[in-house]
This record gives sequence, C-alpha cells and structure tokens, in this order.
Amino acid sequence: MVNINIPGFKELNIKYLVSDLNGTLTSKGVLKDTTAELLNKVAENMKIFIVTADTYGKAGDVCQNFKAELAILKTGKEKEEKASLVRKLGCHNTAALGNGANDELMLEKGALGIAVMGEEGCSSRALLKADIVVKDIDDALKMLLDPDIIKAALRT
Ligand SMILES: [Mg+2]
Repeated sequence: MVNINIPGFKELNIKYLVSDLNGTLTSKGVLKDTTAELLNKVAENMKIFIVTADTYGKAGDVCQNFKAELAILKTGKEKEEKASLVRKLGCHNTAALGNGANDELMLEKGALGIAVMGEEGCSSRALLKADIVVKDIDDALKMLLDPDIIKAALRT
C-alpha cells in the first residue's frame, strides 16, 4: 500500500495498480528491462493487474517478466471492462496507467490516473482524464515508488 496526503488533491491509499499493456508498459510490443525491474519493485507495495485486448498476442509472454495478474479482454468493450475492474477493486484504492482512448474511463475512475505518452503517443481523451501525464512509463513507475514526486505534481 502507498499512502500519501496531497494538499488540495486528496489522500491516496493505493493498494492496486491497473495498467494497460500496449503503448503503456510496452512500445511496439517490447517491454524494456528497466520497466520490468521497476514493475517488480512496485509489486512489492501494491498488486498489479494488466488489462489488455492483447493486440499482438504476446501479453502472456511479456507478463512473465514481472509479477502481475493478466486479464485479456474479449468483449470489444475494452473501455468499460477496464473501468469495471477498477470499480471492482475499489476506485479509491486503485491507480490506473494507460495511453489509449479505451483507457479514458479507468484513468478517470481511479484514485490516481497516470497517462503515458511513450513512443506510441497518448490519446487526447486519456490525457484529459488523467491526473498526471508522463513522457515515459519508467517515470510513472518511479513516481509510484517515490510518492513525493506525485505530491509535488498534484498539490495546490
Ligand atoms: Mg494502449
């Protein structure tokens, strides 16, 4: 669990992280070694869930590199399914990471939404619903390991 009280924003008690895979954790289907390492560190403090439509069919292989539970979405309603997992875990306890238009709702519902630009870019809808926007996934994970960075960005 990560606890931090952010003046002018809210008190965060993060137990879960729900993340998109393609374009968020990976770039063109490839997971950087540094990202895998950081994910394993983050997993010491919160439970990680990966939600993906698995566009490249490689989600199972990629997710073997770090400790997380993988949920492959099949209904064609990815946006709703991703947000529904955040609701199920508890919006107030869950951080969300994403880059696509179908991440918009979970970024909005989560207690903390982080949009990742990365090399694949970020949907403007996702960006507008996020609390923080980062240029690289590793920056997002470093924030979750050092919440003072989150506090510095969000305090008013
Ligand atoms: Mg994506």
